[in-house]
Formats: sequence, C-alpha cells, structure tokens
Amino acid sequence: MKVPSGCTFHQSTHKGHIEIPFKVHEHAEKFRDWKVKGSRLVKMEGEYYIHVTFRKIFEAKDPEGVLGIDVNERSIDLAVVKPEKVKFIKVDISEAKYIRDRYFKKRRSIQSNTSGSKRARLLSKYSGREKRRINAILHKASKIISEIVNEEKVIPVMERLINIREKIRYGRVMNRRLHSIPFRKVQEYISYKSMEYGFEREFVKAKNTSKKCPICGEINKPNGHVFKCKKCGFQADRHIVAAWNIAVKLPMCRPLPLAAKAFNEPLIIEVRGKG
Ligand SMILES: [Zn+2]
Repeated sequence: MKVPSGCTFHQSTHKGHIEIPFKVHEHAEKFRDWKVKGSRLVKMEGEYYIHVTFRKIFEAKDPEGVLGIDVNERSIDLAVVKPEKVKFIKVDISEAKYIRDRYFKKRRSIQSNTSGSKRARLLSKYSGREKRRINAILHKASKIISEIVNEEKVIPVMERLINIREKIRYGRVMNRRLHSIPFRKVQEYISYKSMEYGFEREFVKAKNTSKKCPICGEINKPNGHVFKCKKCGFQADRHIVAAWNIAVKLPMCRPLPLAAKAFNEPLIIEVRGKG
C-alpha cells in the first residue's frame, strides 16, 4: 500500500502516534476482512510504503487430478490431467508482450531524445505505467487459472524457476525477451489464488519438459513452436506438450494412455488488459 502524498507526517498525536489515511489497491481489496498479522514502513526508491501482512487459514480440499502449467511469454499453457479425462487450455497473454515491446521502444526513444532530470522523470513515469498494465493482465490470467483449479479440483504444478533461467542461454536480445514476463510473479499469483480455493501448488524439475515426447517418451531437441518427435512422428504445440510433461511429473499423477489426436485442439482463452 502506497502512502498517499499530502499526508501530514509532522503532526503528532498523544503517545507519539500519527494517523495516516490510505487507499487500498484494488487487488488488495479482499484483504479487508483478513487478519492483520503485522506491518512495517519501508522506503523504496524515495517513496514510503506500508507493508502489511494479512493472514487467513484455508481448508485444503481433496484433489481429483493435476494441472500442469507452462508459463511463457505469450501464453500460459495448461494440461488438466484427471483419471477420466485430459484437457488442454491455452491462456493467451500476448498483449503483455506487446505492451512490453512498445514500452521498450518508448524508453529507448526517451533515452536518446532527453537528458537529466527530465529523462529520469519520464523513464520512471513510463516504467510505472508499463508495470501496472502488465500486472493487470497477469492478475487476470492467474485468476482464470485459479478458477480452473477450483472447478476441476486439481493441484497446480509448475516448473521450479531456477531451471528456466539455466535452460535458456541466449544473447542480449533474448535476455530482454526472457525478462518481458515476470515468471516468478505469475507463479506467485497462481499459487496464492489457488491456495484460496484449497489447492496448494507443487513444483517439479524443469528437466526435459519441453523435449520429451508424450506418446513414445523419446527425448527430442526443441525446434520452433511445434514439437516434432523424430522417433514416432508425433506433432503438437510445444507449450501444450510442456504443460502435459509438467503435470505427469508429479508422482500422484497417473495419466491415461494418451492418443496423439488429444493434443491437437486446446481451448484458447484470450486475456486483455481492458474490459
Ligand atoms: Zn514420440
């Protein structure tokens, strides 16, 4: 929670306490009826913030299956794996990438056309705006995913993130792209929103999740957006394959034998910043 400007900090009341009115951010609205566990004042980039920790206990529910979640720049791909069914969903977050690319150009133009305090002011203004717009999309996407967790009664399973960084060894251009979506944040949002429904997330190792053929088990070299198995000829969307591989890594997951055609048509959900 940001301390609003215009507060009268110098004003002291009896016993040295001051009262500061504050606005609750829309994403934090629901915490109003949670218990306050503690709070502290922190200074970040010259501004004061109050960090408040809220607490609420949720009852864990019995899962009926597993949800493999593969987080990418343009989509979050899901594999619902239950004893009686398998379903694939692609949550399209490409608008976040589009926003990121646009603001990247804007920043570059500010850097070459302005200087001094004007440059600093503009850069900070646009960076704040960019973060808020991307965050809104990621919150929306995470909400959709946690609702799927609740409806399907599945354990969300994601890749342990350290491996994502190790896995990708590209140059500077790729590095910028890699950071265009804050993967850790997306995982955190999905985790806590799912926990509110009674399903606690699990992490699995990322090893081979984008390389293993779901039909024959062959380890292939990743090559473009389409996964192609050199041994059995199976083809499907690379991220959907990864979501499946992430789901079945959880020991409790006992998938049905999978028909190759089951992979062909994921349900697509588009996430837009506005509306
Ligand atoms: Zn294969």
